Amino acid sequence: MARVFPSNRHSSSLSPSAPPDVPRPLRKPGPPAFRSRGTLRECFHYAPSGECILVGRDTAADLADIRRSAWMLGGAGCAVLLLGLAGGWWVGARALRPIADISATAARIANGDLTQRIRTTDTESELGRLAHDLNDTFARLQASFARQAQFTADASHELRTPVSVVLTQTQSALAREHPAGEYRESLAACQRAAQRMRSLIECLLTLARLDSADTPAATKPCELDRLSREVVELLLPLANEQGVQLEVNLSPAHCLANADQLAQVVNNLLSNAIHYNRPGGTVRVAVYCEPTTAVLTVSDTGLGIPPEDIPHIFERFYRADKARSGAQGHAGLGLAITKAIVEAHGGSIEVASEPGQGSVFTVRLPSAQHF
Ligand code: ADP
Repeated sequence: MARVFPSNRHSSSLSPSAPPDVPRPLRKPGPPAFRSRGTLRECFHYAPSGECILVGRDTAADLADIRRSAWMLGGAGCAVLLLGLAGGWWVGARALRPIADISATAARIANGDLTQRIRTTDTESELGRLAHDLNDTFARLQASFARQAQFTADASHELRTPVSVVLTQTQSALAREHPAGEYRESLAACQRAAQRMRSLIECLLTLARLDSADTPAATKPCELDRLSREVVELLLPLANEQGVQLEVNLSPAHCLANADQLAQVVNNLLSNAIHYNRPGGTVRVAVYCEPTTAVLTVSDTGLGIPPEDIPHIFERFYRADKARSGAQGHAGLGLAITKAIVEAHGGSIEVASEPGQGSVFTVRLPSAQHF
């Protein structure tokens, strides 16, 4: 709509769409001015002659449109917000499900069921990898518990035999009067059983100490060659008794070690080499130095070890030759202790064996100057 107010204030020109009751605006010189009346928006301009031209329009329809648009935008915003919340909840629940699985599995394991594993098909995501690593840890834990249980069962089994001997001997001695010679025999059998128990308990204690310490105590520079010679001299009577010849080839080799434990390593290997030898056989003990290691080899011309037993001979209570081991009171702990001592000193032990030909045990320890 448009309206022209002439300067004389008595007449006016109206456009066809202009309402008749448009009040004349207050005079304002200068550029066009604006005013609002209800839903009407008007712009007017006073000419220098005093005439006023006013144009305007009703914005009710526009405002209704804007309100409608605002409602639509608000509705769409709410819908997007709700969708976002629902989507976020769904994605969050999906992402957290593995954590819930992990905590449920951990709770079942804590309750004693070590066979439980976290169900996971996803191997790529961080959580998938975490679940995989935890499953590995649970598997190692289960294996470790199984080994502990087996170890306890084996130890009890080994102790049961000498205890039975003591009980049987004492029962029969107490049952009635015996000649003095029979009492002596009974006491001698009890003493042998007690010695067997003592050596078994000492082995178990040694293993327990080695298990609980990361590094050997009281290490000092040791001459492996001198220490080996001392052990050879100690075991010479046993070798003679078994008809086994001892040959030594000892070059100077130094290492930083607990001397008692190192002597036990040489003793275990040497006594096995004598024990599992044949009459008239030979045991060779060699010590020499390599650039960074002190090396001990103990080789024999005995029974050898079947290939299927080789991976197990360093396990606790494993006996490849059951008949010979059990009969002589060998409990199958010697090589386990030997390996534990060598590894605690940062070294390694390996075996090469040919059934019927003999075995060679090689121990490598870091040389003293390389600590
Ligand atoms: P054990 O106390 O029974 O000798 P070890 O741990 O010292 O136990 O040895 C484990 C097994 O390895 C033995 O039972 C034996 O069968 C085998 N073994 C060890 N040393 C030798 C060897 N020098 N020759 C043949 N077999 C051996």
